[in-house]
Amino acid sequence: MDFTVSEKMKMITEMIDEFVDRELIPMEPDFLTRPCKYLLPEIEKKREMVKQMELWAPNHPRAYGGMGLNLVEHALVSESLGRSPLGHFVFGCHAPDAGNIEILYLFGTDEQKETYLRPLVEGKIRSCFSMTEVELPGSNPVMMDTTAVKDGPDYIVNGQKWYATAADGAQFAIVMAVTNPEADPYLRASMIIVPCDTPGFNLVRNIPVMGHAGEDFFSHGEILYQSCRVPQKNRLGPEGHGFVVAQERLGPGRIHHCMRWVGICNRAFDLMCARARDRIISPDKTLAGKQIIQAWIAECAADIQAARLMVLHAAWMIETVGAKAARKEISMIKFVVANVMQKVVDRALQVHGGLGMTDDTILAFFYRHERAARIYDGADEVHKVAVARQIMKGYEGKQIK
Ligand SMILES: Cc1cc2nc3c(=O)[nH]c(=O)nc-3n(C[C@H](O)[C@H](O)[C@H](O)COP(=O)(O)OP(=O)(O)OC[C@H]3O[C@@H](n4cnc5c(N)ncnc54)[C@H](O)[C@@H]3O)c2cc1C
Repeated sequence: MDFTVSEKMKMITEMIDEFVDRELIPMEPDFLTRPCKYLLPEIEKKREMVKQMELWAPNHPRAYGGMGLNLVEHALVSESLGRSPLGHFVFGCHAPDAGNIEILYLFGTDEQKETYLRPLVEGKIRSCFSMTEVELPGSNPVMMDTTAVKDGPDYIVNGQKWYATAADGAQFAIVMAVTNPEADPYLRASMIIVPCDTPGFNLVRNIPVMGHAGEDFFSHGEILYQSCRVPQKNRLGPEGHGFVVAQERLGPGRIHHCMRWVGICNRAFDLMCARARDRIISPDKTLAGKQIIQAWIAECAADIQAARLMVLHAAWMIETVGAKAARKEISMIKFVVANVMQKVVDRALQVHGGLGMTDDTILAFFYRHERAARIYDGADEVHKVAVARQIMKGYEGKQIK
């Protein structure tokens, strides 16, 4: 087994690491303490710099202006970008646009690709993904109240959704709605592109998450669709195939999150080690001299290494055998990496004591915002059940001695 990183990827990740250190981490104090809109012009400048460096949209197709990296290569890039909450957005490979780009590329008509995909990859517009409903379990999305009913050449969309990440300022939403109520549960819903300026599209609020509603890209919206009329040509993929399209989105989407979380782990770990080295705890000792902190450092290093190798392996599996055959690996990394990240951030915060609770470091931000990692794109428990089911299938009728 060859773990060598190619010269090309070494060069790219070194450039990205340097950019994150020089250009993005210094922006974080403002990001943490001022309204997001204040930072947007500066973020735009950084995005232009990234485009000049030809590092824009690393994972997106070359035909649309991306770098066309494969998933394993993107895992390495994502690890570097995940070190700052600004990384993925500034490099044009952020959720939820990244997932929407993938399904537009795979299922979009030529017209949809020109209208929505191209400007999205170019970073000229933003989008959101609107599946989860307020009143029904996101863990079982076949239970869905939102409908899209045909009326002449149009669909009329009605429903109440929430947690549409980055809906504030998005130009369009990809909405999951029931189009075929009589069909088999997994063939009832379709994905429909709804421009956000359509009459009846109401962004009710940005949901306060851990005490912070956020705004613009860094927010999660509740949306009320009230007789939203869109042409039928806005359907993405075949009618009734919403869940098939969603699977295409969620598989790679999950691995994208995990790649980013490894970057968060690395940043938190660096901060923890630096603090342990520098914090004098008694006249002749730093925190790094305490056994319990040494144990945390060793455990976190091992956990991060294990999580990272699992992510790279899952990325390699998707590249070689496809997302469907790699379902178990994707589910495993989803809960393993989310929990490793939570543990590493928590330990790093603890080592910082009172300082860890402030916004003077990035740790409290990670602690607040990344708790959701164990819930979105499939809660831990859902993935564990899925993994166990697949494992148990392998034991059916098998003699074990
Ligand atoms: C920060 C954030 C961003 C998000 N972004 C988006 C987005 O952009 N677009 C979008 O459509 N949605 C988004 N979501 C919604 C997310 O996908 C749902 O919250 C998630 O699917 C869980 O659904 P739910 O909240 O309805 O919880 P429920 O389905 O009610 O589940 C609640 C809990 O029950 C447990 N549980 C559920 N099923 C099982 C089971 N089978 N066995 C055992 N235990 C179980 C789990 O512990 C779970 O956390 C986001 C959520 C968050 C927090």
